[in-house]
Amino acid sequence: MAARVLILGGTVEAADLAGRLDVLGVTAVVSLAGRTGGGTDVPGQVRVGGFGGADGMAEYLRRNGITAVVDATHPFAATVSAHARTACAETGTPRLQLRRPSWTARPGDNWIPVADLAAAAARLPGIGRRAFLTVGAQGLAAFSGCRDVWFLVRLIVAPPVLPVPGQVIAARGPFSLDEELRLLRDHRIDVLVTKASGGDATSAKLDAARQLGLPVLMVDRPPAEQGPLVTSVDEAVTWLQQRL
Ligand code: NAP
Repeated sequence: MAARVLILGGTVEAADLAGRLDVLGVTAVVSLAGRTGGGTDVPGQVRVGGFGGADGMAEYLRRNGITAVVDATHPFAATVSAHARTACAETGTPRLQLRRPSWTARPGDNWIPVADLAAAAARLPGIGRRAFLTVGAQGLAAFSGCRDVWFLVRLIVAPPVLPVPGQVIAARGPFSLDEELRLLRDHRIDVLVTKASGGDATSAKLDAARQLGLPVLMVDRPPAEQGPLVTSVDEAVTWLQQRL
């Protein structure tokens, strides 16, 4: 059977991997949840929308003759990764997780690690009054109970209603250090709240926070699923070449 790879995407790494497989002549389909209207810059075939849980994904794998799955979703997209583990186990499809490395603190950083969004929200009022919040649309609700904190929220797509007091900026990275410094200064931000996403596209805010001496509430990643895991597109290509 011809090789056909499903790449669970929504990340730069997924698009990069699709491009690499395209060049190698391997058929790949990138799957996107379809929340942010992205995907136009993803090479090759793209499918958009949920599968309908693990069972729906298993059915998709069977029906489309998928011979391997690369779960290149965002490190915080835990549900779809769990579904991929179940669906691949059920169908006997080889599965690889591609997870970009986390950020690491540098001298001058003042990072306060927290286990999850609820813990970040609990700590926040004791740390700052004007927060730059970059935790994604689904993470906002966790902060709705924070008293006496004003939020500058950056999202790819602005929600119809902001569940926290403050202002929303709709923008898609990458962001430069100059942009981030200007943003933090213009809005008199005194604390940054972010998830430990990793990657270059959104790391300039950490450089800006360091330069301005701001504390950073850094939300830990959920654990990865069991099974093989690599941290670079190169390694994912090698893994696939050994199996296809
Ligand atoms: P999630 O909580 O793990 O997934 C929720 C549901 O969305 C899944 O059960 C699945 O629906 C659908 N879904 C998620 N990723 C999908 C994909 N690549 N293709 C098809 N369906 C998908 O995920 P999330 O945190 O909402 O993230 C959604 C997407 O945005 C992910 O693809 C992720 O890579 C990307 N993203 C997430 C973050 C983040 O911080 N969470 C940041 C940047 C990008 P069904 O059960 O119906 O299949």
